[in-house]
Amino acid sequence: MGRASRDKRDIYYRKAKEEGWRARSAFKLLQIDEEFDIFEGVKRVVDLCAAPGSWSQVLSRKLYLPAKLAPDSKGENLPLIVAIDLQPMAPIEGVIQVQGDITNARTAEVVIRHFDGCKADLVVCDGAPDVTGLHDMDEFVQSQLILAGLTIVTHVLKEGGKFIAKIFRGKDTCLLYCQLKLFFPVVTFAKPKSSRNSSIEAFAVCENYSPPEGFDPKDLHRLLEKVGSPSGVDDTDCCSGWLEGPNKVYIPFLACGDLSGYDSDRSYPLPKVDGGTYQSLDPVQPPIAPPYKRALELKKASSQGVREPENLSLDS
Ligand code: SAM
Repeated sequence: MGRASRDKRDIYYRKAKEEGWRARSAFKLLQIDEEFDIFEGVKRVVDLCAAPGSWSQVLSRKLYLPAKLAPDSKGENLPLIVAIDLQPMAPIEGVIQVQGDITNARTAEVVIRHFDGCKADLVVCDGAPDVTGLHDMDEFVQSQLILAGLTIVTHVLKEGGKFIAKIFRGKDTCLLYCQLKLFFPVVTFAKPKSSRNSSIEAFAVCENYSPPEGFDPKDLHRLLEKVGSPSGVDDTDCCSGWLEGPNKVYIPFLACGDLSGYDSDRSYPLPKVDGGTYQSLDPVQPPIAPPYKRALELKKASSQGVREPENLSLDS
């Protein structure tokens, strides 16, 4: 799909470029905030799986820049934003970047060090694996990322804090909901208007972090296992097969964002600029080290008949 064609078919892709966001995902976080007011009182925040950085941009524009530009600001006690991703990210004002794997325990240690003994008010996680199209597999890998996010939450989030995480809806959604409820009395699954209906993506909005009394983060996995696994239940809706009668779980599911606003599944005509032809804007920030870069280099080298140098080998 060409850029102009995508501009037409994906209104949020076009709007993101017009408003200077690095990715259309920015609108998802903004729409979640419209519904849940997630930035209220937030001074310290962790952005997990942050590249290319549109959520970090939202955090910078909503939290850091207003505090820095406030007339009484002395440039002290500004909001702290720490962003982590496997991929490097171009700089964003007010955002500390950590390149690392959120499933690695050392990453949590690096984040904690940045908070210097203080705790975060908000942790957001828009992590997604490379989607295979096999829903069960994608949902499973996605849930591992959420659990890695929850591990970091148990180390860095203050009591009363919020956790927002991307989920893939599937047969284990109910299990995930029950696991999150162990730590958060209020958990809502939200579908922002900018997230396509055709996508299984939604967001868990978890409020008022309250770990069980005496909870030790070392026990997280044992505790989560206690919730039980619905796998093996021959029912596509795990909740109806797993918990019955008065124990049946109903997951609060909410559409958010201006419901009369742009529909991400619709095409919109391209705007005419003073009678001239429509000019598609360049992406705000091209990826600085995309995973496909080496493959392109290899392809180019082979089309030019260049012998593959040692350091371009895919096996290296
Ligand atoms: N929120 C981002 C934004 O607004 O620009 C988009 C995030 S993108 C959908 C998903 C990101 O998850 C990718 O950048 C990917 O590198 C990252 N990711 C996937 N697995 C990860 C892991 N184990 N540790 C850290 N980042 C990971």
